[in-house]
Amino acid sequence: MQSRESMDMPLARSLPAPLAPLATLAYNLRWSWHPQTIALFRQLDGDLWESTGHNPVLLLQTVERDRLEGAAADEGFLAELARVAADLDRYLGDNATWFGQRHGGGEAAQVAYFSMEFGLTECLPIYSGGLGVLAGDHLKSASDLGLPLVGVGLFYRRGYFDQSLDASGWQQDSDEDNDPARLPLAPVLGADGERLLLTLPFPGRTLTAQAWRAQVGRVALYLLDADVPANAPEDRGLTARLYGGDADTRIRQEFLLGVGGYRLLAALGLAPRVCHMNEGHAAFLALERARELMRARGLSFAEAREAANAGLVFTTHTPVPAGHDYFSPDLMERYFADYMRELETPLHELLALGRKVPDDYREYFCMTTLALRSAAHSNGVSALHGAVSRDMWTAVWPDRPAQQSPIGHVTNGVHLPSWLSREMAALYARFLGPDWGHGLDAAERRARAARIPAAELWRVHRQRRASLLTFARQHLRAQLERHGLSEPRAAGEAQVLNPAALTIGFARRFATYKRAALLFRDQDRLARIIGNPDRPVQFLFAGKAHPRDEGGKLLIQRIVELSRQEPFRGRLIFLEDYDMAVARFLVQGADVWLNNPQRPYEASGTSGMKAAANGVLNLSTLDGWWAEAWEAARDLPDPPGWAIGRGEQFDDAEHQAWVDSQALYALLEEEVVPAFYDRDAAGIPQAWTRRMRAALAELSPVFSTDRMVRQYTEEFYLPGLAVDRAMVAPVHRHRLTRAQD
Ligand SMILES: *Cc1c(COP(=O)(O)O)cnc(C)c1O
Repeated sequence: MQSRESMDMPLARSLPAPLAPLATLAYNLRWSWHPQTIALFRQLDGDLWESTGHNPVLLLQTVERDRLEGAAADEGFLAELARVAADLDRYLGDNATWFGQRHGGGEAAQVAYFSMEFGLTECLPIYSGGLGVLAGDHLKSASDLGLPLVGVGLFYRRGYFDQSLDASGWQQDSDEDNDPARLPLAPVLGADGERLLLTLPFPGRTLTAQAWRAQVGRVALYLLDADVPANAPEDRGLTARLYGGDADTRIRQEFLLGVGGYRLLAALGLAPRVCHMNEGHAAFLALERARELMRARGLSFAEAREAANAGLVFTTHTPVPAGHDYFSPDLMERYFADYMRELETPLHELLALGRKVPDDYREYFCMTTLALRSAAHSNGVSALHGAVSRDMWTAVWPDRPAQQSPIGHVTNGVHLPSWLSREMAALYARFLGPDWGHGLDAAERRARAARIPAAELWRVHRQRRASLLTFARQHLRAQLERHGLSEPRAAGEAQVLNPAALTIGFARRFATYKRAALLFRDQDRLARIIGNPDRPVQFLFAGKAHPRDEGGKLLIQRIVELSRQEPFRGRLIFLEDYDMAVARFLVQGADVWLNNPQRPYEASGTSGMKAAANGVLNLSTLDGWWAEAWEAARDLPDPPGWAIGRGEQFDDAEHQAWVDSQALYALLEEEVVPAFYDRDAAGIPQAWTRRMRAALAELSPVFSTDRMVRQYTEEFYLPGLAVDRAMVAPVHRHRLTRAQD
C-alpha cells in the first residue's frame, strides 16, 4: 500500500516550503466537500481556479510563482492553511465515526465498491450522470461514516464528452483530454516502487493495465487504465471513453473492470470480503471471485460460486431495457473460452448464468442476470423500482412469483456536504445541528426546522437564486461567444432572466423517458403561464444526450429553438455542458425543481434530492424517489413540493404525456405560481417558506447517502461479512476431508 505522502510529494517539493500542505490538500478529494479548502485554492488565483475547471493540482502546477511567493509570505493565508490542513488531519484520524463506534475498528478494506463511473468532482470527468454521481456520493459518505471501503473503476482518458451546441442547437460532442499527471491522481505502485502492471488474458494476446489512485477522504478509489505502451493500439484505446464503442469494447471494458479490478485488489494485498456491484457492468467480478476460491480451496465451480456469492451485493439501476448489457454467445466465447478452460469448466456453465433459459444456446448473455444469479443481496434504488425490478426479472427465478423475488430496495441518496450551498450549510449548522440526519424522529426534525426564521430562509434562498442567475448569464455569454458572436453582442444577448421571477430548473441526461420537452406540449398555454407581467416565470434547462441518442439530441434542439423565439426569449435558457458544477448552481438556486419522467422508468433520480436539501421545492411525476417521498409528505399542511398526476400509467406513451402535461399546466397555474407570489407585507412568501422547511425536515436527512450507506452496511455488508466468515471454516474443513479421502 502506498503512503499518503507518496501521492503529493512531487507537487509539495515544487511549492515554497510553507505552502507544502497545499499539495496534501489538493490530492485528497475531501476538498470537494470542504468549502474552506476550496476558498484557499480560490484565494491563490480565482481566475485560474475557474479556468482549470476547479482542479487544484493543475492550479498548483501552473499558478504564477509570484502568487505562490506572495501567499507564502502572507500570514493570514498561512494561518488559514494551517487550520484547514489540521482539519483534514483531524478528519482522517477521527476514530469516533459511525462505523467505528457501532461496528468496530476500521480494519483493512472489507468492502469493495465497483462501478463503471464515478462522479466525485467536475475536474475528474469519469462520469456521465446520476449513476456516477451516486457512486461518488457513496464513497464520500463511506469516508464520513468511517466505513472500511475501497472503490474500483476505470480511468477514461477522454472522459465522457464535452457538450457544445452548433448554431442550430444540434449537440456537438467533443473530446476531453484527461492527463492523469495533472489530476488529483497518483500512479499505483507495486512493492518494488515501480508502476504496478496487471495482465489479463485476451484472445491471442495479453492486456496490460496500470492503475491510478484517487483519495476520497479516507477512501481509496482505484482506476484501471489500459493506455500503456505494452498494448496494441486497439487495446490502448480501450479505456478512452466512458460508454463509447461497440459491444466488443464494452465487454473488454467490463472484463477489465470486474476481473481486472478484482485482481488489482489482490495485487495490492486487499482481500475484500464483500464486493458491491454498482450496476451489472461489474458482474464479471463474480466469476473472478469464484475462480480465486477454486484455486485457493480446491473447490468445484459450483461450490466456489456458492462461497463467493455470500459476499456479493448487487444494485440494479434502471427499468429501461437498453440500460442492461447483453453480449452475444460468440462474444462471450471470444473472451471467456480460455478463462473457463483454465477452470476446467465448460463455457456453457458460464453462459447459463447470464440467460433466462439456461439451455437456450442462442440467448444473449445478460450482465444483470449474471449479477442477480450471483449476489446474495440484490436491490433496486427506490421502493417503486424494487417492485418494478421484481416484475422485470421473474425469469431468473422461474419457480417463484414476483412477490417472492429476492430483489429488495435501498432508496438512493445524496451526499449533503457536496450538494448544500455554503449559505444553506450555514443555516443547517446554526439551526439543525450536527446530528441532523442521524436518526432524529420526525417531531424533533420539524421542531428544529421550525426555528429557522422565514425571513432568514428566504434571504439565503434569494442570495442563491441571484448567484444562479449571475452564473447562468456568464455561462450563456461564453456559450454565445463560442457560437461566433462578438463580445459586445454576446454580452448584450446574455442580459436575460429576471432576478425576481419564479425560476424553475430542469437538468439531467436527455434520455427520452425523462421527457425534457413535456413542458412545451402546449406552447400557448405555457405562454400564458409565463407571460403574466405580475407573476413572471422563467426556466433553466441543461443536460447531455448520449452521442448515439438522436432522439435526445432532437429534444435539446427543440428547446434551444424555443429559447430563441417569443415569448420564451430571455425566459428559457439552455446551459451547455451540464456537469457537477452546473448542477450545483441549479439545485442550489432554483425555486422549483421540475422532473417529469414517464413512470416507472426513473429508477430513483437524485437531482431532486439535491434540490430538496437546499430548500428547493420539487414538482415531479410520481416516479422513483418522489413516489415514496410524496407518499410520506403529502398530508402535511405544507408539503415540500407537488405531485404531477397520481401515478397513473398508460400503455400509450403519447396519451401518458398528454395526461401528465395537463396535470403539470394545472399545477403551475393553480398552485405553484400563485404560491410563489403570495407575499406578506415584508415581501416574504410565508407558505412557500413553510414548504421549504418541510423539504429540509422531511427529505434532506432521509434521502441522503449517509442514510443510504448505513442501510447498505447494516442490511447487506455486515451480513455478507458474517456469512463470509462462517463460510471460511466449513469450506476449509471440507477440503481437509477431501484430502484425507
Ligand atoms: C445529480 C446529477 C445527475 C442525476 O440527475 P437525475 O435528475 O437524478 O437524473 C446527473 N448529472 C449530474 C451532473 C448530476 O449532478
